Amino acid sequence: MREGIKANIGELESTYTFSNFIEGWGNRMACAAAKAVVASPGAAYNPLFIYGKVGRGKTHLLHAIGNAIGRESGAGEVVVISAEKFMSTLIQSIQVGNENGFRSLFRDSAAFLLDDVHFLKERDWSQEELYHIFNEFHESKRQVVFSSDRSPRQLQGFQKRLLSRFSWGVVSEITAPNLETRLAILKNKAEEAGISLGEDVLFAIAKRVSTSVRALEGALAKISAHLELQGGNLKQADLDELLPLEEAGSRSVSIAEIKALVAAHYEVSVSDLEGDSRAKAITHARQVAIFLARELTNSSFPLIGAEFGNRNHSTIMHACHKIKNLLRTPLFAQELSELQRELPQE
Ligand code: ADP
Ligand code: MG
Repeated sequence: MREGIKANIGELESTYTFSNFIEGWGNRMACAAAKAVVASPGAAYNPLFIYGKVGRGKTHLLHAIGNAIGRESGAGEVVVISAEKFMSTLIQSIQVGNENGFRSLFRDSAAFLLDDVHFLKERDWSQEELYHIFNEFHESKRQVVFSSDRSPRQLQGFQKRLLSRFSWGVVSEITAPNLETRLAILKNKAEEAGISLGEDVLFAIAKRVSTSVRALEGALAKISAHLELQGGNLKQADLDELLPLEEAGSRSVSIAEIKALVAAHYEVSVSDLEGDSRAKAITHARQVAIFLARELTNSSFPLIGAEFGNRNHSTIMHACHKIKNLLRTPLFAQELSELQRELPQE
């Protein structure tokens, strides 16, 4: 049945796993949703739709899910395919007059993960096929995961019925990593590559390169090549030349802005957030605000404590911990990611 079509469409990249995916601000929600999907594929959050700008880890996460489902569930083959390959394979099957063969390529898969679905804009045949494949997977409770460079709401040139299906499960954005996350990623990448760089150099890179993980990898390669050639130390002038400062306008958010947004979202007042009330709804809103303050402003625990009615260090830590745990619930992860989107970032 598969005659005339390249049968091996699986492109699972075994090096992209959860263990070498650094979790942090920007990807925490998407990562939580991805792990929830792995824990019970096809169950509650189907499909998972991950979106974000280029170089932020969408492909890595998709393959990590694929590897984990394939390995852990023992459910069998998992298809991870780029939208581009999806389309070219479809065209190939139409050319040899074997359209049924195309669908059969996916028939036995335990999960279907489609990377860069935005690529299918105005590709009518591909969208038609995708619609049917999605329905088959969804009806048989098999997991579907999409990645895209924008949200379903922002996608244009897609069938309405497809767009609505994209949002049936959880939609989660990967935003830019914060300083702390960038530093952690750099440390990890340097270690992986066997490059030894001082803390100050890593920090300098993390400060200068903020938009994507791909850009961080590029910067790391540049710096280590430079050090190899020049030997020894790195001067400020070298840094300026190798990694010009990114455009200004990257303003970080303030704790006051976070408080105002969270208060509005949970319909409490800013003084509730700073006050002593232990009412459940207020405590929750307060903990969310504290968590966001920590993640987005890189403020110290004592400073955040001072901003939230002089709470002590351990109360602040407890709040952060609590919210981090809650993020394992995809619905909450999504709520927080939507909240985050309303903050002036980048
Ligand atoms: P996208 O698909 O969003 O364009 P990729 O998944 O290709 O981005 O990621 C770009 C590069 O950055 C890859 O080499 C990937 O392994 C790496 N990367 C992205 N996010 C992380 C992360 N959180 N931890 C470690 N590596 C990451
Ligand atoms: Mg990608």
